[in-house]
Amino acid sequence: MEHLMERSDQLGLTVIRRALPPGIRGEYWHEKKLIVLSVSLTGRQEKSTFAHELGHAHYGHCVPGACRGDRNRQELQANDYAAKLLIAPGDYAAAEKIYGTHTESIAYHLGVTPAIVRAWRSLWKRRLSAQFSSPRHSDVVRVESFALPGGQNRNHAERAN
Ligand SMILES: [Zn+2]
Repeated sequence: MEHLMERSDQLGLTVIRRALPPGIRGEYWHEKKLIVLSVSLTGRQEKSTFAHELGHAHYGHCVPGACRGDRNRQELQANDYAAKLLIAPGDYAAAEKIYGTHTESIAYHLGVTPAIVRAWRSLWKRRLSAQFSSPRHSDVVRVESFALPGGQNRNHAERAN
């Protein structure tokens, strides 16, 4: 959490914990430079949500409807940012050596949510396929289906997994 707080300070953000509606893990309010984290998160959920909201702050994402932008693209950017912030490639490789491709076990080992592990794989899969055109390389990282957080009404509200 320390490097996340440092990043948050660098971005000039305030971070508070507050009761949020069921299923909502966190929010980012761009005009207030404010990250809200739900009080009912586990340690892994809080770290993962915090990193995701930092991604929204880093890219300056604002309230859907109040500014233009593709919401799915913003969620993808925030997930990529969180995955990069929380999982070093060497740590992922070491975890996969122990646990194979079992997402839950890797997530537990790395102290993040399974969604972050899936986001990390998705990110690297895209990077690798951009880097290598040969189909031999397309199965380097196994990618599972990955649902972006839903919710149209709330401001970058993160839902369970
Ligand atoms: Zn989000």
